[in-house]
Amino acid sequence: MITLKSPVSELYGVGPKLKAKLDRLMLSTVGDLVFYFPRRYEDYSQTVPVRDLVVGSRQTVRGTLWQVKATDSRRGLKMIQASLIDGTGVVRLTWFNQMYLKDQLLEGAEIVVSGEVQLYRGYTSFSNPSFEVLEKAPDGSSLHVGRIVPIYAETEGLTSKWLRQKIRTALDLVKPQLVERLPSALVVAEQLVGMQAAIEELHFPSSNDNLKRAKERVGFEELFIWQLKSLWQRQQWELKGKAFGQRIQTGKLSEFKSQLPFELTQGQRVAVREILQAICADAPMARLLEGDVGSGKTVVAATALVNTVANGHQAALMAPTEILAEQHFRGLNKLLLPLKFKIGLITGTKNLVAGLPETGVQLGLLEKSEEETCVRVPRTQMLELIKTHQIDVLIGTHALIGGEVKFDSLALVVIDEQHRFGVMQRTELTQKGGNPDVLVMTATPIPRTLALALYGDLDLSILEEMPAGRKPIVTKIVPEPKRASAYTFVIQQLQEGHQTFVVCPLIDESETLEVKAATETFAFLQNGPLREWKVGLLHGRLKTREKDGVIEAFRRHELDVLVSTSVVEVGVDIPNATVMMIEGADRFGLSQLHQFRGRVGRGQAQSYCFLLSESENPESAERLTAFARTQNGFELAEADLKLRGPGEVFGARQSGMPDLKMASLLDVRLLKRTRTAALAWLPRLAEMPVLGRQIVAAGSELMLWH
Ligand code: ADP
Ligand code: MG
Repeated sequence: MITLKSPVSELYGVGPKLKAKLDRLMLSTVGDLVFYFPRRYEDYSQTVPVRDLVVGSRQTVRGTLWQVKATDSRRGLKMIQASLIDGTGVVRLTWFNQMYLKDQLLEGAEIVVSGEVQLYRGYTSFSNPSFEVLEKAPDGSSLHVGRIVPIYAETEGLTSKWLRQKIRTALDLVKPQLVERLPSALVVAEQLVGMQAAIEELHFPSSNDNLKRAKERVGFEELFIWQLKSLWQRQQWELKGKAFGQRIQTGKLSEFKSQLPFELTQGQRVAVREILQAICADAPMARLLEGDVGSGKTVVAATALVNTVANGHQAALMAPTEILAEQHFRGLNKLLLPLKFKIGLITGTKNLVAGLPETGVQLGLLEKSEEETCVRVPRTQMLELIKTHQIDVLIGTHALIGGEVKFDSLALVVIDEQHRFGVMQRTELTQKGGNPDVLVMTATPIPRTLALALYGDLDLSILEEMPAGRKPIVTKIVPEPKRASAYTFVIQQLQEGHQTFVVCPLIDESETLEVKAATETFAFLQNGPLREWKVGLLHGRLKTREKDGVIEAFRRHELDVLVSTSVVEVGVDIPNATVMMIEGADRFGLSQLHQFRGRVGRGQAQSYCFLLSESENPESAERLTAFARTQNGFELAEADLKLRGPGEVFGARQSGMPDLKMASLLDVRLLKRTRTAALAWLPRLAEMPVLGRQIVAAGSELMLWH
């Protein structure tokens, strides 16, 4: 018997050749085929008689092929010409450079043709129209014409038409096996069409209305399951209980706040309250702190660290890069050393402690003020310090979750820039010290509804406002002829004592080429327009120590200009830098551009972001103009998601994004509807045997279909 799990090769007429082609579309089972949803639809259901064709409009006609000619023009243009007659008139059809269509376009065949009606040398005609040759299915109905026809993503030698036929065969065989995973009460309450009907309708629509309802049904199921799974994971998380209890430590907290050089914003205060409440609650915290670049997430996280240490426990903060980890170490030293906390930094290459002056050998490090408090220790000693609770707050890269790192009482873990870590790492870390509270922070802020859907296993705190007094960063698109004046401007800023970043473009995922581009830009600037200034070069191929050296030199203003690949994207904090020049700006996503821009404007001075682009594509121009116009990271992230999709924006699968085939993450209405439903049905998982089993078995990755 053929089932959803049967290999496609068991279907009649699928030999090794076709199987190879199907493999290319990742269609290996009959189920894959059935759940291979069309990319778009062509509406052949509304045909008109030839005599009613209107030049300039998109229309569909049906008739008989006649006078088919394939010609090789002298100019190398290959074309097929034909006429179509339907008893009311004749239209001319022309296909250019598609000689492979010849076998389908046989004289006398019944055909449906769709496209823009044109007038060519006085004849009504279609140029490169889409078409379907009429063929009857065994039951006499037509699969391909006179109806809304699905168009699939195709591959060489596998047409939509072939796919439609095979899907028809497959569906006839396995339709009864398509189980209803949603409980019938939900299907009724949400007025959804049944699963079998929906799948049938998606492949073979009977009307636009029914097709719409089928899409709604399938989209609902995807988002509902995704959210149900997130909520379930969340529940499991809470059931595991908590590593260590906490109380609000008012004394230490106010000591901490009183030494801050600024007042917390209203939003920060709310976030702090939410987080403190959560870490003092019985259930373990799993919370996302969202805020735009520069909105001040660190100090909010620091407050939670303070409370944790004041309760006698340890806390950890994990950053995605060594640069960022070290910067956090430095920043948190300033905030936490006055409270007499002992702080550690652990990365792949470095172990530092602060607040323990009697430990280790003092090395010449960093800024003068820090040399007094901060020392380098051997790794074994570092591990010992952590284990024996002589470190209160441990900051690090993912070295922090390495197997050898053992804590005495780890009660809180903060993860910065969380989308850069896979979901797996999050789980790994939290499995370390019993069950700590977890706070994750993200720099790609997205609207609340979307965040709830994507990170349904997390509670949310959002910083909507920026600290007062931030000047918007003047953002300008610099066309190539204006490049020289941009350098003149940069030099003025350098003369005023400021610094400049120059970011070089992403090159097709190739680090080698990226490094080459940055090296060339560096040489060009250092020998050309900026020869009077000290220019540094930073890229991913440098050794950690070299990278540190360059950033350190830039931080100390021993360098005026830093030329870099996209590695400066996250977190680097150099308040004296006022210009961010982005080469090949059109190659970056909006969120990434926003991250770069966020590297400047961190001090008092007015800052600038220059977007250089040689692209003549009007869409990129439009995108960059839109970027220049808004400073709001939430809006940019949303637009970016619309343009590129979550895979691109967050870095594909590793970030744990749902692999949706039908639903759009930007469909706020459906997101809300499915979340409400998922919340209501979470306690009733037992009433959904199939789905329940799938969710429980899924681990971190749930196949939404199959
Ligand atoms: P992000 O949210 O991007 O991680 P940071 O936490 O690095 O932002 O904060 C950016 C800058 O804003 C830091 O220099 C920080 O000291 C400063 N900052 C944070 N909160 C406030 C505030 N309430 N008022 C003024 N400056 C603040
Ligand atoms: Mg930050």
